[in-house]
Amino acid sequence: MFALSDEERAIVEVVAEFVDREVRPAARELEHAGTYPEHLIERMKQLGVYGLAVPAPYGESAVSKRCYALVTEELARGWMTLAGAFGGHTVVSHLIAVFGTEEQKRRYLPRMATGELRATMALTEPSGGSDLQAMSTAARRSGDRYVVDGAKMWITNARRSGLIALMCKTDPAAEPRHRGISILLVEKGPGLTVSRDLPKLGYKGVESCELVFEGYEAPLDAVLGGAEGRGFAQMMRGLEVGRIQVAARALGVGRAALEDSLRYAQQREAFGRPIWQHQSVGNYLADMATKLRAARLLTLDAAERLDAGERCDMEAGMAKLYASEAAMEIALNAVRVHGAAGYSTEFDVERYFRDAPLMIVGEGTNEIQRNVIVKQLIDRNRI
Ligand SMILES: Cc1cc2nc3c(=O)[nH]c(=O)nc-3n(C[C@H](O)[C@H](O)[C@H](O)COP(=O)(O)OP(=O)(O)OC[C@H]3O[C@@H](n4cnc5c(N)ncnc54)[C@H](O)[C@@H]3O)c2cc1C
Repeated sequence: MFALSDEERAIVEVVAEFVDREVRPAARELEHAGTYPEHLIERMKQLGVYGLAVPAPYGESAVSKRCYALVTEELARGWMTLAGAFGGHTVVSHLIAVFGTEEQKRRYLPRMATGELRATMALTEPSGGSDLQAMSTAARRSGDRYVVDGAKMWITNARRSGLIALMCKTDPAAEPRHRGISILLVEKGPGLTVSRDLPKLGYKGVESCELVFEGYEAPLDAVLGGAEGRGFAQMMRGLEVGRIQVAARALGVGRAALEDSLRYAQQREAFGRPIWQHQSVGNYLADMATKLRAARLLTLDAAERLDAGERCDMEAGMAKLYASEAAMEIALNAVRVHGAAGYSTEFDVERYFRDAPLMIVGEGTNEIQRNVIVKQLIDRNRI
């Protein structure tokens, strides 16, 4: 179950080594300063991380989604920001690889595989991210172009991405509404402004931005797959990958919190013994490890289904829901185990506690995941 090839195991090991040697020693300082981790991102490019979802002949390092999840976990164990910095990129690579025209694959995928071209996806709008079909950003045909107007919010990596998978309405009057939605592959140009970097609790070092489109022009062949009206269905498939990635990020944060707690609970003494020997602390550690293991199994199960070419929106939703709630609880228990040190900015535990909530909200909130799960449960068990 969940076996990786020797080659994929080696990839995970190389990334784990990079995290231990270069990421963990640097993360705290970079995070507190809010510094963009240019050097670490360059190393991730060299390690082939940006190409993990780009298949041959456009790339060289495409791997199974199980391997992709484990690489993501390793990076997030070092610093969740690094795992987030290539999350949207891999969803866009997957979308282009699965749905793109031959011309779109040739134009984008080879440069995305090396990380020379980085991509992000723009779904959320100032008026909301859960009710995607209510979006108001619109691309209207004008001769041989689309003219795009609207605004997007919380778009991660927007300043450094050369390609944006923009979800928008190409037919605002369509009923049902999802038939009027398309994904446009958009490059930076006149009429597109990255207007603001949004301040946030954690996930620092990488920018999450507001985008404004005012009379932005895109060619008609910018529509993903070459046909309008398929964007909603395409993005739902892309989000299966995105939710596995977010679940894997939660695994990384939870694992870092557990490992730091295991170390601290053996070093710190109270009442004449290491604190892990006090049953309450020991119970925290046992629960943290149990939930982390359950979360990993759910995540790898969803990834395995995706690798088998099966639909996995329910399984990816379950993995994302469970792993993110587990990471939040594990991070909180890590604060408890560390006492005041868990509240100190001289330790990493407070960062895990600030990073964990993003996985509850991002890539569809956990309330939305429950809606997806129950809909699938009923569809698959209709009486
Ligand atoms: C740091 C960060 C980075 C992000 N990066 C990106 C990115 O790169 N690209 C992108 O497109 N978006 C990104 N997002 C946005 C994210 O995907 C949205 O925040 C998320 O989808 C929720 O949308 P919202 O914040 O507008 O909440 P809302 O949709 O306003 O929801 C508010 C609350 O109502 C609940 N709710 C709404 N509808 C229902 C319902 N039908 N049933 C039950 N509960 C419901 C929600 O669960 C939530 O609790 C990012 C967000 C953050 C914080």
